[in-house]
Amino acid sequence: MANPKLLILAGDGIGPEVMAEVKKIIGWFGAKRGMGFDVEDDLVGGCAYDKYGTPLHDDTMAKAQAADAVLLGAVGGPKYDNLDFSVKPERGLLRLRKEMDLFSNLRPAQCFDALADFSSLKKDVVAGLDIMIVRELTSGVYFGEPRGIFTEGNERVGINTQRYTESEVARVARSAFELARRRNNKVCSMEKANVMESGILWREVVQKIHDEEYPDVQLSHMYADNGAMQLVRWPKQFDVIVTDNLFGDLLSDCAAMLTGSLGMLPSASLGAPMANGRPKALYEPVHGSAPDIAGQGKANPIACVLSFAMALRYSFDQGAEADRLEKAVEKVLADGVRTADLMGPEGGVPVSTGQMGDAILAALDASL
Ligand code: NAD
Repeated sequence: MANPKLLILAGDGIGPEVMAEVKKIIGWFGAKRGMGFDVEDDLVGGCAYDKYGTPLHDDTMAKAQAADAVLLGAVGGPKYDNLDFSVKPERGLLRLRKEMDLFSNLRPAQCFDALADFSSLKKDVVAGLDIMIVRELTSGVYFGEPRGIFTEGNERVGINTQRYTESEVARVARSAFELARRRNNKVCSMEKANVMESGILWREVVQKIHDEEYPDVQLSHMYADNGAMQLVRWPKQFDVIVTDNLFGDLLSDCAAMLTGSLGMLPSASLGAPMANGRPKALYEPVHGSAPDIAGQGKANPIACVLSFAMALRYSFDQGAEADRLEKAVEKVLADGVRTADLMGPEGGVPVSTGQMGDAILAALDASL
C-alpha cells in the first residue's frame, strides 16, 4: 500500500525549528516502526508571501487538499505586521481552514505530572488532567451575517450575528461523540440556551444526535459561563467538551493554560471524511512564531511533536504509536529535561530545541 501523504508547512519564526524535530521523529517511525510517510514540504505565511506575494499559493492549497494530513508550524512575525490585511501571514492559515472545511477543532488540555507545578492552579486540581475541547470552527458569530459597523440615527452600531444550522451543530456533535468513545465516553455540551435561541437549537440538536446515534455516551449540558467556572474549579470532572466557535475560543484557551506552558499545546482541526475514510485534517501547535526567540535554539518543540501524535491517532489510526510518542515525551519531562520555557524553580537539565528532539528520540528507542 502507498505511504500516506503528509504535507509539512513549517511557516515562519520558530516554525521551521520545531518542525525539524518532528521530522526526526517521523523518520524514526519510518525506520523503527515500518510506518513510512511521503513527506512534502511547502511554504505558508510570511515565507510564502516573500516568495510568491501571497501567504498561501494556490498550488500549496491544492497539495493540502490532496494530502492525507497537513502538519503546520506557525506563521507571522514583525516583518509582516504592516502588510495589507488580505496578504497577512495569518490569512494563509485561515484559507487552509476554510477551504478544507475544518469544522471541528480539537484542543486537548493534558497535564503531565512533571509540569503540574507550572499551572496557576493547585497541583492536585491539575495533576493527571486529560480533557479535550471540541470547538466548532467554521460557523457561528465569527461568520454570521449581517455583520459590520452601521449608522443608526446619529450613532454607529456594531453588529455580529450568531447563526448555526442544524447540520452544522450535528456534524460537530458527532465529532465529539466519536472522540468520547475513544476516551472516557463522556461529553459535556456548552452553550447559553438560557439567553440565546441559537443555544436552544444547539442543545436540542446535540441531544437528538446523542439519543439517535450515540446513546452509549454519557451526555450532559452546561451553560458556558458555568462551564468556565467549573473548568477552573475542578477540571477533571470533564472528558470531552463540545461548544460553539466563540465559547470554544475562550474555553479552550482557559483549559489549555491550566496545564502550563504554551510550548506544550497541540491541536487538530478536522473536516469531513475523504474518499479514503480519513478526515481532512490540519495539525498544528497552539503557539505562534515566537519571534522573540526565533533562530536561537530555545523553542520547545513538544507542542509540534504532540500535534504529530494527534495525527497518528486521528488521521492514521495509530493510537498505540501515538501513545508511545506521548509516553516518550512524558518520560523526557519526568527525567527533568527542560527547554527554557519549562525551567521552573526546581531546575532541571537545560536543553536546546534540537537536544529536546534527541531526548524524545532516545526515549522512543528505549520504548522498543
Ligand atoms: P507566540 O505564541 O508566538 O509567543 C508568545 C510567547 O510564548 C513568546 O514569549 C514566545 O517566546 C513564547 N513561546 C511560544 N511558543 C513557544 C515555544 N514553542 N517554546 C518556547 N516559548 C514559546 O505569540 P505572539 O508573540 O503573540 O505572536 C507572535 C507571532 O505569531 C505574531 O505574528 C502572531 O500573529 C503569530 N501567531 C501565529 C499563530 C499561528 O501560526 N497559529 C498563533 C498565534 C500567533
